[in-house]
Amino acid sequence: MLIAGNWKMNTDAAAAAQLAQDVCATVRTDAGVAVAVCPPFVHLTGVGSVLQGTPVRLGAQNMHAAGSGAYTGEVSAPMLVSVGCHYVILGHSERRQFFGEADDSVNAKVRQALSHGLTPIVCVGETLHERKADRAYAVVEKQVSVALRGVDASAPLVVAYEPVWAIGTGETATPAQAQSMHAYIRALLAKQFGKAAAADITILYGGSMKPANAADLVGQPDVDGGLIGGASLNARSFAAIVRAAQQAA
Ligand code: PEP
Repeated sequence: MLIAGNWKMNTDAAAAAQLAQDVCATVRTDAGVAVAVCPPFVHLTGVGSVLQGTPVRLGAQNMHAAGSGAYTGEVSAPMLVSVGCHYVILGHSERRQFFGEADDSVNAKVRQALSHGLTPIVCVGETLHERKADRAYAVVEKQVSVALRGVDASAPLVVAYEPVWAIGTGETATPAQAQSMHAYIRALLAKQFGKAAAADITILYGGSMKPANAADLVGQPDVDGGLIGGASLNARSFAAIVRAAQQAA
């Protein structure tokens, strides 16, 4: 199990360091549940130094597919590694929606992340329009298959199912909806990597997960934790979600 906090474009340097300290002080980690926070790029070093010596891992929210070069404003995988990142979120729906990120680009980033020893958290999920049009499973199938093209079975990999209609809206997929899509994703992974490898891949749910609904979601057999947006900005809420995952693990 993994509980990862996506801080998005929130916190200034002081608030980020304080939140990281609060997370370390509040979250009880144990072997069954890994915990990570993904602050904005500019806070990675500061938050990383707060996390040093604790079991809470550091992640980034995006990266460029190239290792270095003339890409003004971008950040590369080696840079993330050099500041202590373990995870990188790739293909988040906000990147897809506001920055034109497409499946091919997500795939290039996934491969680049893996080649530098980062564990990608690959986000997939359908919009409300796609769900209403009965296309949720087809959309997710394409996102998963393109994003993971050329990736091999031994790669450390996290997939996050984040229905776009549930992100930041207060609306959550029901545990049954989440389980159904997670089982579908697990079957897709089994087709590509084999059943045993697919069973070991962490599949997170993301979309308005909070203390009140976390236990039901992480209690589903194919839900291996959560990618938490809004609720990760409050250390107590985040810790309560981690506890729910520990009880389910
Ligand atoms: C997210 O953006 O990854 C997310 C799950 O956000 P929220 O929890 O706020 O819906």
